[in-house]
Amino acid sequence: MERIVVIGSGQGGVQAAISLRQEGYTGKLTVIGAESGLPYQRPPLSKAFLKSGDADALRLRPAAFYEKNNIDLVDGTRVEWIDRANRVVHAGASAFGYDHLILATGTRNLRPPIPGAELALDLRTLEDAVRLRAALAAPRRCAVIGGGFIGLEFAAVARSLGHAVTVAEAAPRLMARVVSPEMSARFLALHEAMGTSVRLADPAVAISEDGIMLAGGDRIEADLILMAAGVVPNTELAQGAGLAVENGVVVDCRLVTEDPAISALGDCCAFPDPVTDRLVRLESVQAATDHARLIARRLVRGERASYAAVPWFWSDQSDHKLQIAGLSSAADGAIVRGDGATFRFCGERISAVETVNDAKTHMQARKRLAISPIFVRDLEAAGLDLGAL
Ligand code: FAD
Repeated sequence: MERIVVIGSGQGGVQAAISLRQEGYTGKLTVIGAESGLPYQRPPLSKAFLKSGDADALRLRPAAFYEKNNIDLVDGTRVEWIDRANRVVHAGASAFGYDHLILATGTRNLRPPIPGAELALDLRTLEDAVRLRAALAAPRRCAVIGGGFIGLEFAAVARSLGHAVTVAEAAPRLMARVVSPEMSARFLALHEAMGTSVRLADPAVAISEDGIMLAGGDRIEADLILMAAGVVPNTELAQGAGLAVENGVVVDCRLVTEDPAISALGDCCAFPDPVTDRLVRLESVQAATDHARLIARRLVRGERASYAAVPWFWSDQSDHKLQIAGLSSAADGAIVRGDGATFRFCGERISAVETVNDAKTHMQARKRLAISPIFVRDLEAAGLDLGAL
């Protein structure tokens, strides 16, 4: 293989380039990214960066790394279409031929179709975070639309800086897609104790220059409005190229699309969950980087392994580090241990383990879930001690 092109220079796209070189790929390697400047990591944007403003600390690799590893980084360039027949991608007047193409286009923020939605700020890119940080330099009344990871991380930082904060969430509990009702309640208590006003089951229905209107009829006055209502995968390129899309670019268990010359990874792809075989799309650094490594091993070494890594996630809110090992559905049950570690289960099997400031249990869960399924009866017989299983 002589030419590999990666579309998207985020966490997964850059990891793919790094891993390809580490595995020994010596051909031409081009990473095309729509954003300008050196690729960076997003997680600190809603955490440390809002306080420190240190953009250099976010860089995935220094400029010299790309030169030294002969990685052609084409920044500030949006790919517009993929010509699969001729294996060429087009961006304006530029064209890049490939033998293998990796789609790593990530997601963009969801804009609910409500009046004034365009007035709200986003928190997705470094540019967004710089804008928010500047806004937080003066006292603000912040309204955050969305009580998921990013909205709550921002809320925690804004409160710690002394701003007034209201979070409006459409669902009846916080982080409902990803954690148990018990963990939602724990984080609701944390944010309320910090002085944040949390409005549940009360979605924003309109936004104006000076606040948001909630479905329940209340108006929240605000001079900083953050939209953190979820994301949509960037699948238009794949769709335009005739590839299957189902809440993500559809790939098989080896992360290959219907076209054997095109792989997809990270936030933009929908892959078969090894436990349930359902197509899932994850939004996490771990998935993007593990996908990238698997694709590199396949392309360079011809490895045929299926993607089977245990998913894990984290979120830092104030002094609470929430960690989740495994993948649960909103309907899964929960068993809460005395120290707060929460075991989600679906049928007989543990689907995920949620912990707060408990790295030991989190690591035990990741290791144990990677070996074999954990059954509820075995865990209960072991006194909910993963180490004793
Ligand atoms: P991205 O990193 O989003 O990169 C995709 C890139 O593709 C973008 O730069 C985009 O501009 C580019 N692109 C799209 N279309 C084109 C095109 N047509 N041509 C060229 N380029 C294109 N995850 C965690 O695990 N833990 C966290 O604590 C956490 N915190 C987060 C906080 C914030 C504020 C945000 C925004 C995300 C956070 N995430 C976190 C999610 C994590 O950053 C993503 O899961 C990860 O970046 C996904 O990597 P990716 O390569 O798939 O996509």
